[in-house]
Amino acid sequence: MSTSIAPCSVAPLSRRGAAWRARLPSQVVLGPYRLRVEILERSHMRDRRKRACVNVEAERIELRDDLRGMQLAEVFLECIVRLSHFSKGCQQGCVEEAYTHSFATGMVEFAQRNPDAWVWFNLLLTEHLVSDVRYDKVVLGVVSRPPPMPKRILVAGHPVTIRSIGQSECGNAFGWYHSSNREAQLYSGLTGSNLAVVALHELTHAIHHMYDLKTRDRHLAFKRAQVKGWLGIMTDNPSAWRWLAWVMSFPSKASLAPG
Ligand SMILES: [Zn+2]
Repeated sequence: MSTSIAPCSVAPLSRRGAAWRARLPSQVVLGPYRLRVEILERSHMRDRRKRACVNVEAERIELRDDLRGMQLAEVFLECIVRLSHFSKGCQQGCVEEAYTHSFATGMVEFAQRNPDAWVWFNLLLTEHLVSDVRYDKVVLGVVSRPPPMPKRILVAGHPVTIRSIGQSECGNAFGWYHSSNREAQLYSGLTGSNLAVVALHELTHAIHHMYDLKTRDRHLAFKRAQVKGWLGIMTDNPSAWRWLAWVMSFPSKASLAPG
């Protein structure tokens, strides 16, 4: 992980905006794509109606130049979700399970192949969320001990429990999401990147459930629910995102087993 990120600033917003552009990651690598990240005036974007474009033909992610703070975080996350689904061939007509796993594997891949962009994104959240979330410290490994798995989180305002389960309860799966009692279950033997993927996967099922998505819903509905739902988790559940961000950042140390 890069440690070259400047400490949090108390500069006025206009200077902050300039600083954010200076720290913006130069590229994002996902699937077979390596895209430059560029801030552009609306008139230079591929689609002038949008806040951002994933322009694979020009090999760049285009971010409109007036984006700031949490709006920038949301738009950037949306680009990662779009690129993830595109690179995996997840498109209109795919079922909910495909959208779920495409999101989970895409986010873990983004975190692990793009350390600078991953730190930047978490620093952006840290500076602009109201509470003292310290996500930047987590992804840089500046924590006294690994954050623990939360037992309960809020997804779109609804409580969802997270429970570690043994082999006998797992059957042939690594995890489950039960909509009847709003519970995500994770196999207690999960380790490494698979722990991150399964945790993101089951919680994404919870998001789809809370957003009332159908097994076959529109591409736009899946994308919107994933961006809004996950940004909501990052905003409302700092302990949950600290745990997930740590597991995604340090898979070689990640384990669900206690101690
Ligand atoms: Zn699933």
